[in-house]
Amino acid sequence: MNIACIGAHPDDVDLAMGGTVIRLLSRGHSVLIYDLSNGEPTPFGSIECRKRESETAARIMGVSRKTLELENRYILDTIEARKMLAGEFRSFQPDVLFTHYPYDAHPDHTSSCSLVEASKFYSKLTKSDISGDPFFPKKVFYYFPNHIHLNLTPDFCVDVSNEMSKKVEALNAYESQFIKKGNGAMIEEIRTINAYFGIRIGKKYAEPFFSRESLDVDLIKELF
Ligand SMILES: [Zn+2]
Repeated sequence: MNIACIGAHPDDVDLAMGGTVIRLLSRGHSVLIYDLSNGEPTPFGSIECRKRESETAARIMGVSRKTLELENRYILDTIEARKMLAGEFRSFQPDVLFTHYPYDAHPDHTSSCSLVEASKFYSKLTKSDISGDPFFPKKVFYYFPNHIHLNLTPDFCVDVSNEMSKKVEALNAYESQFIKKGNGAMIEEIRTINAYFGIRIGKKYAEPFFSRESLDVDLIKELF
């Protein structure tokens, strides 16, 4: 299957589902990470260093990654952005999408979720000026909002015990975001969150996911 993982900023997908990305790749799926913005400005980053860090993280995970042109801090679910992202979906033809949980502390994250859902729909429109041929991604799943302390019950968890060390290695590539900021604690927090959800399924580490629609067991089996 083709699987698109969409995040507002270059580290969002890696933090929330880096282990799952590695696992999906090992199952033979084609996975592409879309960063909707380049993530800048941030206190210790620059456009060049963010690009270098996110490419290094992608290389460690073995995944492809594409940075789109939306503006950090000002991401909105606009008609123009929907057409742009729908064009990307038509080109890559993802069967499944993963993106931000619908509620989050960062406005970029909530609008990215809304944008992804709308673009999924736009992608199938006929008689439009969107580039490429109509295509409809089957499903969208939401990953865990790491920056807000919500009490959420996941719809499913992915065992990432075998992938955890590589995920942490990938996160360490984001020096300007987690290390220079004195924010190495962020990576430890992610490990704790993944350990917590791991316990809930009797495994060492797991990444939690959410779905608005009922789950199709065949799709979950095919994915993992
Ligand atoms: Zn973000």
